Parts: sequence; C-alpha cells; structure tokens
Amino acid sequence: MSTRYPILTVATKAEEDVSEPWRRQAAVRMSIVSGLTLAIALIGCFLVRYLSQRQRMAAALVAKEADFRLLAEQSSDIVMRIGLDERILYVSPSCTRVLGWEPAKLLGTPALAGINPEDRSRLEQAINSLKTGEAEEARIIYRTRTRARSEIWVETALRVTRSALSNEIDGVVAISRDMTEQKDLQDKLATLATSDGLTGLANRRHFDERLAEEWARAKRDETPLSLLLIDVDHFKKFNDQYGHQAGDACLRSLGRILAAQARRPADLAARYGGEEFALLLPNTAADGCAEVSERVRKALRELGMLHGLNPPSKLVTVSLGGATNTPIQGLTEEALVAAADRALYAAKESGRDQLVMAGQVISWPAAKSA
Ligand code: GH3
Ligand code: MG
Ligand code: MG
Repeated sequence: MSTRYPILTVATKAEEDVSEPWRRQAAVRMSIVSGLTLAIALIGCFLVRYLSQRQRMAAALVAKEADFRLLAEQSSDIVMRIGLDERILYVSPSCTRVLGWEPAKLLGTPALAGINPEDRSRLEQAINSLKTGEAEEARIIYRTRTRARSEIWVETALRVTRSALSNEIDGVVAISRDMTEQKDLQDKLATLATSDGLTGLANRRHFDERLAEEWARAKRDETPLSLLLIDVDHFKKFNDQYGHQAGDACLRSLGRILAAQARRPADLAARYGGEEFALLLPNTAADGCAEVSERVRKALRELGMLHGLNPPSKLVTVSLGGATNTPIQGLTEEALVAAADRALYAAKESGRDQLVMAGQVISWPAAKSA
C-alpha cells in the first residue's frame, strides 16, 4: 500500500504458476496408473494365452493317448510293456484273441511264461542284450503256448524303453504277431521244394544235396555209403497196356515200398527221374545194401501188380544197381552214382528183376572194404 497515494497494489501469483506443479504431479500419477494398467492388461493377455495353450496341449495329449490306445487295442498284434524284472506291465486286449488270456490275467506275470523251452534261451539272450543296452531292438521268432494248450509261432519285435526323466532303460516294449499260418505255409513250401509230387518221396534236387552231404560225412568218418538205383522193368509197355494213370498208380505203390524199406533215420528214398528211383543208405556196406535190395524185390512181388508184357513173372518187377564205397581221395559222389548206374545197366542186360552190385566196377581200399 502507498502512503502518498490511495493506491492499493495487490500482487498475486499467476494461476498458471500455481497450478503447474499440481498438473505435473497429476501427469506423473496418470502415467504411472496407465503404465500399471497396461502392465496388468499385458500380463492378463499373456496368462490367457498361456492357459489356452496349456488347454490345447492337454487336449492334444488326450487325443494322442486315445489314438495310441485305439491302435494298441484294435491292432491284431499284441503290444506288451515289460519291466526290468521281466514281468508284464501292460498288455493290449488282442492277447485274448491270440493267446486266449484276458489282459488282466497276464498283468504282473512273468513275460517268458509259456514259451517253448527250446526257444526260451534265445529270447532271454535278446532281452538281456536290450536291458544291458547292447542292442536297441531285436526281432525273434519262437513258439509259445496258448490258454487252450496249443502251440503257436510268434514273431516279436522288442525295443527298449527309457525313463522320460533320467533317460535310463526302464523296460522293454514287445510287439508280437501270430505267424503260425505263415510258418505252416513256409514248411509246406519247403516240403514241396524237396519232395516229388507224384510219390511224395524226396525229389532229385533233395537227393543230390543229401548225397553230397552223406558222401562228405562218409569220407570224414571213413564209413561205407551205399546207393541203390532202381528202375521199373518194361515200364513203357506197362503204360501202353494199362494206361498212363495206371502207370502213375504203379509208381506210387513202388514209392510206398521204397519209403517203407528206407528204415534207418538217415536212409533216403528218392524219385531219381521218370520210373527210376534211388535209395541212399549211409553207414551201410555192400551186404546191407544187397539185403535192402532183396527186401524191395520181395515186397514188390508180394504186392503182385499185374504186368502182362513183363515175362516170365507177368508182374511188375524192378532191376537194381547197387554201389558201395568208402570214399577215397580224389573221387566224388558222382563216381558212386555212375557205378550204381553201370550196375543197373548190367542187371537189365542179364535178364532184369535182379540186383547187380558194382563190386567189380569201382574199387575201394582193401583196408576199408565192407
Ligand atoms: P526197361 O525195362 O529197359 O527199363 O524198359 P522201360 O520201358 O521201363 O524203359 P524206358 O526207359 O524205355 O521207358 C520208361 C518209361 O517210363 C517211359 C515213360 O513213359 C515212363 N514214365 C516215366 N515217368 C513216368 C511217370 O511219371 N508216369 C508214368 N505213367 N510213366 C512214366
Ligand atoms: Mg528207365
Ligand atoms: Mg524201366
């Protein structure tokens, strides 16, 4: 206030100057609040995404498990999980159809029960090599018993399983398939490949293989080996007179006689070709060979098959050529066949229905003669 003039001077701060700090503080608070709100929104978003991802993963896992279960349970193969103690931890329902056992009955039982004792050690070895980490997988074919006590052939693929946490081997998973039918078929094919369709005797190929084996064995063990070649007498005339089918039946009858006379387990009766047969007689000397030959002729005579154009008996007869040899250095099994063949020719030449032994045709060392 002025003392000379009636003037009152009022001085105040401008409104701007007063409100400025408040505004600044308000702006700071606002930005903090909006920052926090944004952070909360972001965290919320992240949580929502994380949870829905977890949900999707859980759903996918459930679907995958259902898929695997469906595969294991619908498959005709048996899926089995085996623990390190070789007991069954899981087995798929197909075991009911293949083995006759309900899965629940098998849980906790030894996985190797019921396996044929002859195959068991092979399977044990395979499982051991998996458990010790020597091998990751193995495939094995063996016989096992079903609930009905019959035996089936099973092919099993084995693989180690590892713990998800430690990666240590914690068991084996086995996928098994019933292959009895394939095995039977294989056996049938093997028989077909080695046997003659008309007579059921060994075929020429099988005979050749066995001859080579027996020759080698006889040479190694210095034992005698005999061979009889047998040819039906005047068989062309038999066919001409009685027909080809009767000829076939005649060959089948002779085949049965030869099979019956090949008495020792190692003896082999074979159809050598056409109406010619062979009897391979391991560990048999010349006298034994002649004895078998006489038994064949006698059995054929007793059968009494008519053969009007085969005088003088007018029955089906055979000529036989026999050869025995303890294999000697440098000779092959073909020499034995050639000797028996020459003896057979000699039997035909000297009147048929008889045996000629090739004693004079091939020689064997005196020390080892029969
Ligand atoms: P040989 O006394 O000299 O042995 O006279 P063979 O008539 O028996 O001999 P040959 O070799 O002249 O004739 C063999 C005959 O055997 C001719 C052939 O038609 C017949 N034959 C060969 N294989 C079969 C067969 O599988 N079935 C039939 N029915 N006949 C066969
Ligand atoms: Mg012939
Ligand atoms: Mg003949």
